[in-house]
Amino acid sequence: MKRFSIAIALVGGMWFAAPVPMAEAAPCLMVTLTGTQSGPSVFNGQAGAGTLVRYGDDSNDCAAMKLQFDAGRGTNMRLSQIDVTPVQLNAIFFTHMHGDHTEGFADIMMLRWYFKGPEIDIVCSSDATSVLGVTNSCRKYVTHIADAFLQSGEIAERRSEDNARLAGGPVDLTNVITFDPKDEPQVVWSSGDVKVSAIRSTHTAGHASYRVDTPAGSVVIGGDAGNDVLAPPRASSTSDQVEKLAKGVDIIVHSAFHPVLGPDRGSGFPPLSYYRQSLASDLGAMAQRVGAKHLMLTHLGPSLGAVIHNQWKVPGGPLTQADYRKAVEAGGFTGNTIVGTDLATLRLPAK
Ligand SMILES: [Zn+2]
Repeated sequence: MKRFSIAIALVGGMWFAAPVPMAEAAPCLMVTLTGTQSGPSVFNGQAGAGTLVRYGDDSNDCAAMKLQFDAGRGTNMRLSQIDVTPVQLNAIFFTHMHGDHTEGFADIMMLRWYFKGPEIDIVCSSDATSVLGVTNSCRKYVTHIADAFLQSGEIAERRSEDNARLAGGPVDLTNVITFDPKDEPQVVWSSGDVKVSAIRSTHTAGHASYRVDTPAGSVVIGGDAGNDVLAPPRASSTSDQVEKLAKGVDIIVHSAFHPVLGPDRGSGFPPLSYYRQSLASDLGAMAQRVGAKHLMLTHLGPSLGAVIHNQWKVPGGPLTQADYRKAVEAGGFTGNTIVGTDLATLRLPAK
């Protein structure tokens, strides 16, 4: 692709703008799993769920733009391992308001505030009420993200040392952009060549899945999406809306459960929690149907190598990457499968 920048010159008292070919800098996309832990529990130092999408070109190592999708526990630590600071993030998107996807947000925002900004877009669902009458509110979550640090006096104390820091703390740096998730993709954020779309998906009220389109390729971040039909019999455990969003996409990043935690296997894992996730085998089938080239499994249930997942014994013993790969292949996927570990990265085009 030929890329141009605008050169402006003052010639004879008049301004001229002309397109000038830039050095050949091919666009590229990098997708990194910043955390692969499934659910509230902790295991083996894994960070909570999150995905970093970087876009740019060869001249900036694909890092002109950095978008974070979900920010579970330890996200900041993982970002520091790839030299990304909170200040560099261009926007943060949330799939839903479960702690395993949100607990790292305060950490990121406190450090961004300490470094004095700049403001950042936080993109998520508008308030949504469940069938049991419970309201999930991303806006309130963001608005109150640093209340404890305001209450403890730390915000005021650090501001007294440097009054360039904003008085309200991290919330003063947030620009919350909410949308009503729909059954059709809608563009919820864009900048330059990069467009982010969202679709409604079932897991909790207000759950959304995202797609990022760039000139270098595209990626869907499914989050914890499952099928609208909450238990068998059903055609698939995967989301019909995510499938719609993922048509022709290059990469699918998706939370994945293994059939070993199913109610028929006797682990005791709660059926409600099991059925509202997508199975690795069904994700393989979906990835094949939409023509995806890469499937990155994350948020694995059970975690790789875990004897106990959360508080339930894994029937038959710990799973390996090969077990998940086998499940994906049983679903019919013939593309590239990555069974997620923290900081697993995929680059398009490959180097
Ligand atoms: Zn989760």
